[in-house]
Amino acid sequence: MEINKKRYRDLDSYFKRKFNKKIIKIPLDGGFTCPNRDGKISKLGCIYCSENGAGDFTKYDDLDKQIDFQINRLKKENRKEGYMAYFQNFTSTYGNIQKMKKLFYGAINNPNIMGLSIATRADCLSDEVIALLDDLNKKTFLVVELGLQSVNEKSIEFINRGYSHKEFDQDLLKLKEKNIKTLAHIIIGLPNEDIDDFLNDISYINKRKFWGIKVHNLYIEKGSRIFDYYLKNQNDFTMTLDQYVDYVILILENLDPNIIIQRLTGDGRRDKIVWPIWSKNKARVLSTIDKKLKDEDKKQGDLWKEK
Ligand code: SF4
Repeated sequence: MEINKKRYRDLDSYFKRKFNKKIIKIPLDGGFTCPNRDGKISKLGCIYCSENGAGDFTKYDDLDKQIDFQINRLKKENRKEGYMAYFQNFTSTYGNIQKMKKLFYGAINNPNIMGLSIATRADCLSDEVIALLDDLNKKTFLVVELGLQSVNEKSIEFINRGYSHKEFDQDLLKLKEKNIKTLAHIIIGLPNEDIDDFLNDISYINKRKFWGIKVHNLYIEKGSRIFDYYLKNQNDFTMTLDQYVDYVILILENLDPNIIIQRLTGDGRRDKIVWPIWSKNKARVLSTIDKKLKDEDKKQGDLWKEK
């Protein structure tokens, strides 16, 4: 049982144990773009990508101002807190290396920042990026977040991720060789996927010993390309909250108990989500998962076997 009484290895408990305080990830916008949107690979982007590149909007260009703004927005008085800089928007290792150095070293030199999370694509890890990440990893707590989404090549084509699972796997090894912590995002509920696909994702995540995982339910936001697909194919979108909870529990049971769980719901904008409506209430989704795990006396790793 974790500090937060979860039946899975949740990030908040991990941070409390490691840093002896509450750690808040503060979303930062490094002003990056993405090769899947700027035309290098495609101009369309992933089918679910929003105008913010799957990231929160933050209103300052200056990094220290962004950090102050986000800390003031998220902090709670009288709580022992630390902050992790999270470069979330678009592809944070794509583009000018000097710009990356300025941002990432700038963040870790800010006295309020205890570490870095960098969201990117596995196909955007050039040699100079790997050298930079290697150096950052020696200086601070570093996690590199990758949009795996699925190991099913047909699904990867459907979402227009722009590179194959085979390429993802080869590129991932560059991070593993440097002992850099990696986190995989996966999506539950893509059209034409079922529990076998989700368990294939987990089997891969176990095999490659990712440090962490974020599980997102598929959701449809107005204005995304998947919204147009949804309007024409509504029969493909049937996942109920109960089904999602059952999938998540099976995923947790099959997941290596050492892997950190950072998210178990989608993170869409409430005002933009048109499906599934239940996903707008993240607290309810999480409490339903927790309750079912407790009622059925299940926990992360119950069905996992070391291979
Ligand atoms: S990789 Fe991220 S930023 Fe790029 S198109 Fe896909 S979701 Fe958008």
